[in-house]
Amino acid sequence: MPRILCPRCNRPEPRCLCALIPSLPSRTRVLILQHPSEVNHALNTARLAALGLLNAELVVGETFDEALLSPPGYRACLLFPGDEAQPIAAAAVDQPMLLIVPDGTWRKARKLLHLNPALAALPRVTLDGAPPSRYRLRKAPGPGALSTVEAITHALEILEAPASFQPLLKPFDALIEGQIEAMGEDVYRRNHVQE
Ligand SMILES: [Zn+2]
Repeated sequence: MPRILCPRCNRPEPRCLCALIPSLPSRTRVLILQHPSEVNHALNTARLAALGLLNAELVVGETFDEALLSPPGYRACLLFPGDEAQPIAAAAVDQPMLLIVPDGTWRKARKLLHLNPALAALPRVTLDGAPPSRYRLRKAPGPGALSTVEAITHALEILEAPASFQPLLKPFDALIEGQIEAMGEDVYRRNHVQE
């Protein structure tokens, strides 16, 4: 039997997450740039973020149209480290932010920047004091590494305080629980919990 995937959340139908995905408004516009190698990854958390936010878009590719990076009425900032990166709270101005989030491993994200000079030239913002990731299922560069949906949730909560964006994490939690069940608790603990 072929596995049938939900066309919206891309999960196998018995584990469809759509019922848990919110429709949250935000003043900030979120643009997720996803490397094609991430699209079919089982833990595609960027997709959950894009589906859960009304003012968000996920674009898959290696090179991107520059018009995408400068929609009228928004100030574009790239969520990525750099020498001149500012804490995101300090970068907030009167104009709403277009928060551009590269999705993928660090290596793939760097490649996207390399292939898109206009992207690399944008002012950069970073997340300070982000809570630790709830789960570490993917190879991440350090303890501060968050999944894409966690990073976006945290960024929006800083920019739009006191609004809560926690409902964005609901399908993520369910996704992780399903993943842990599938691999078995023992394997999860051995590979992903630091003791
Ligand atoms: Zn679904």
